[in-house]
Amino acid sequence: MDLSTYCKALPKIELHAHLNGSVGTETLRKLQKIQNNPVNDQLISEIKNFKTLKECFRVFKIVHDLTDTIEAVYLATCDVIKDFHDDNVIYLELRTTPRAVNGKMTKNEYIKTIIKAIEDTSKVLSGIIVKLLISVDRKQGSLNADENIKLAIKFHEEYPKCVVGIDLSGDPEEGEACIKLFQDCRKVGLKIAAHCAEVPNENEIVDILNFKPNRLGHGTCIHKNLGGSDELYNKLLSSKIPVELCLTSNVKCATVPSYSEHHLGYLLKDKHPICLGTDDKAVFNVTLSGEYELAAKYFSLSNKDLLDLSMNAVEYCFANDEEKTFLKNKINKFGFDNLY
Ligand SMILES: [Zn+2]
Repeated sequence: MDLSTYCKALPKIELHAHLNGSVGTETLRKLQKIQNNPVNDQLISEIKNFKTLKECFRVFKIVHDLTDTIEAVYLATCDVIKDFHDDNVIYLELRTTPRAVNGKMTKNEYIKTIIKAIEDTSKVLSGIIVKLLISVDRKQGSLNADENIKLAIKFHEEYPKCVVGIDLSGDPEEGEACIKLFQDCRKVGLKIAAHCAEVPNENEIVDILNFKPNRLGHGTCIHKNLGGSDELYNKLLSSKIPVELCLTSNVKCATVPSYSEHHLGYLLKDKHPICLGTDDKAVFNVTLSGEYELAAKYFSLSNKDLLDLSMNAVEYCFANDEEKTFLKNKINKFGFDNLY
């Protein structure tokens, strides 16, 4: 089996996927037809060829324009889950910021619709477990953060198997991280994933590491070669907090200079817990299989190493113990059938 076939066939665990950035072009076209929305069809066709980051981020605008109703959010969520399933992702954590559209949907309806899409797709698609993390966008300020945290707690209490965590996200150069607001989430059993160190900001990185989220997103500017320091990097290593790494996203956003200089190399060498994710698979035109393949190419990982990466990710995911055993058995079986 060649590398790309192996990466595609490997049962994978996706722990860093934003719902809106994951909506593919086929789905956008479908939504455009249904809604008769003036978003240019040509523009959707060009998404795959977007080169600059500015162009990439136009995808978010298109997705927002096309998913402003309950029906559209439902369809988009179902399609995103199917896309991951087609790539042999067996466990998916989707994250999204609650969204309200004047006269069309409330934040409450937005979240409820996504939960319904998750429940409905799991009835028809076997072999993928899907969970939801509610995001707090730092740019939206503390009032919104407070509102979203309350929603996360409410939905976690109502759907404890589906709404399992909260995510701190948003433009790292705007607003405050306000990680301490997440304390209430921890008390009710919600797990915490925090985007961290996408830009060099020592005070904030220390605050987040001290708070000890369950996982960190990116963790880019922590190593001294990427804008951090030995002190910060050692603090990360001793925290043992798993880091979600999104290779192509970081290269395309130019937060790392190249694939080979990505901090995956340092964290692998230091045996720090890591997992691979796509971040925004439609925006960056990637698949999780493709990211595994890139990791193998640039960091000389064997097929067994890739299997271990997927297996370790199970440990860091927010599923319950019974689900984790199920996932591990699946990955083990794949290894047994294909490696030995
Ligand atoms: Zn992200």
